[in-house]
Amino acid sequence: MAAALLARFLPPDYRVELVESESIGTVGVGEATIPQIRHFNQALGIDEAEFLRETKGSFKLGIAFDGWRGEGHSYMHAFGPVGQSSGLIAFRHYWLRAKALGHAKDLAHYSPNEMAARNLRMPGPGGADLPYAYHFDASLYAAFLRHYAETRGALRTEGTIERVERDGETGDIAALVLDGDRRLEADFFIDCTGFRALLIEGAMGAGFDDWSNLLPCDRALAVPCASGGDFTPYTRAIARKAGWQWRIPLQHRIGNGYVFSSQFCSEADAADTLLANLDGSPDGDPRLLSFTTGKRRRQWIGNCLALGLAAGFMEPLESTSIHLVQSALARFLQLLPAGRSTPSTIDHFNAQADFEWSRVRDFLVLHYWANGREGDPFWDAMRALDLPAALQAKIDQWRDTGHTHREHEELFTEVAWFQVFAGQGVLANHYNPLADAMAEQDLLDFLASQERQLEQAAAAMPHHADTLGRLMARPAKRNTAA
Ligand SMILES: Cc1cc2nc3c(=O)[nH]c(=O)nc-3n(C[C@H](O)[C@H](O)[C@H](O)COP(=O)(O)OP(=O)(O)OC[C@H]3O[C@@H](n4cnc5c(N)ncnc54)[C@H](O)[C@@H]3O)c2cc1C
Repeated sequence: MAAALLARFLPPDYRVELVESESIGTVGVGEATIPQIRHFNQALGIDEAEFLRETKGSFKLGIAFDGWRGEGHSYMHAFGPVGQSSGLIAFRHYWLRAKALGHAKDLAHYSPNEMAARNLRMPGPGGADLPYAYHFDASLYAAFLRHYAETRGALRTEGTIERVERDGETGDIAALVLDGDRRLEADFFIDCTGFRALLIEGAMGAGFDDWSNLLPCDRALAVPCASGGDFTPYTRAIARKAGWQWRIPLQHRIGNGYVFSSQFCSEADAADTLLANLDGSPDGDPRLLSFTTGKRRRQWIGNCLALGLAAGFMEPLESTSIHLVQSALARFLQLLPAGRSTPSTIDHFNAQADFEWSRVRDFLVLHYWANGREGDPFWDAMRALDLPAALQAKIDQWRDTGHTHREHEELFTEVAWFQVFAGQGVLANHYNPLADAMAEQDLLDFLASQERQLEQAAAAMPHHADTLGRLMARPAKRNTAA
């Protein structure tokens, strides 16, 4: 992603070199995204049909959380709006009032995305304007972007970094020493070495903020399986005994994984759970990934910026990692130094990263803390978590007033918070009294007409598989990645 974006936007006198090691390879997971990925692809001028063909992608309208509130329950964090506002106040206040009166249905009935998603519908080009993201094969996307970057002048070097040399005076990185004694000098280095974090940690000693007290899942078992079940235009995050299982439908297979806490579940039990819950036959044995949740204390130091897993990792519950790469790149390009990076620029970037990451973390923690799975030791421990102050304040505000807000540029909107609060049964004790200005019958009609409109709109939409097939049959536009 970094090489592609830099090759696309840097002036011609800059040289971009991408060092990769085929013997090490990539992590090979990371298949669900959020709608911002479309801005990234659009900025690169990538044709959507070609992208979906090359990455075997599918559409995503949201994430279904199955069993988080209790076995058999499901709610969705769907992209886009939920319900219409009226007058000065947001829909959620009318919904809370209707709920208090015993009339409100689940948010599924008022969300355009969830209504379409649950019916396996996906509007085609020119149809309803629903915000969406993609599922894709991460390895194919990496290969696609590598090709894009190389055709725009990025030089790709195969090799293994064995040593990182620092300048004795400035402390900056001076060069990478590759196997075979090749030495690569550069003005600026972007560490994309994954969990190894060879540059930012290995050489620069960034330090790590360990968040595993808040998000204790530290393992994932991943296994693709043959297609089966519904071709859902949404990701599923299914609660299991000591964590949760993802289900990501692609064109050629389904991506599955069980994210769990090794404190509460053995690898063998996790593998049994995962393999017993697939829609098709598994493609090999599950692959184990171990991680510690948290972030580098400083993601930019001197002439080194860390991206992706080298910058830190939070579990993929809300599909945020690829977005955090994209967002860091966008912020980096805004602050691109003309010469040596100044401390004020670096400090500003790192403060933005601290804010962005900690708010994403809090949103993930909410899902766990608000679970209703009593009797499972893992879930019982999660309900007893000591919450970060900012998250506690959000919860208090919601409970006391029915209000949620998006602070500065935090990633998740007030509607996202609303859906998780409502979906997991964290109810507000009050709503804005302006909602009482609507007569009760008008309130019922207001909700019913929204639901009716959404049902009709969804029924008129084509199925996910048909929309995908039609789009991919379209010839690629000129000026694309190929
Ligand atoms: C279980 C799991 C599930 C995930 N699911 C999602 C998801 O659904 N959505 C999402 O947005 N994100 C997800 N992610 C995160 C996502 O996988 C990563 O953000 C993304 O793949 C980027 O990875 P990366 O490039 O940082 O690291 P990697 O893919 O590990 O790439 C590291 C690169 O560095 C190179 N390298 C390493 N060491 C050396 C060396 N010594 N010399 C030369 N080259 C070297 C490797 O060859 C490789 O090319 C998930 C992550 C995990 C662990």
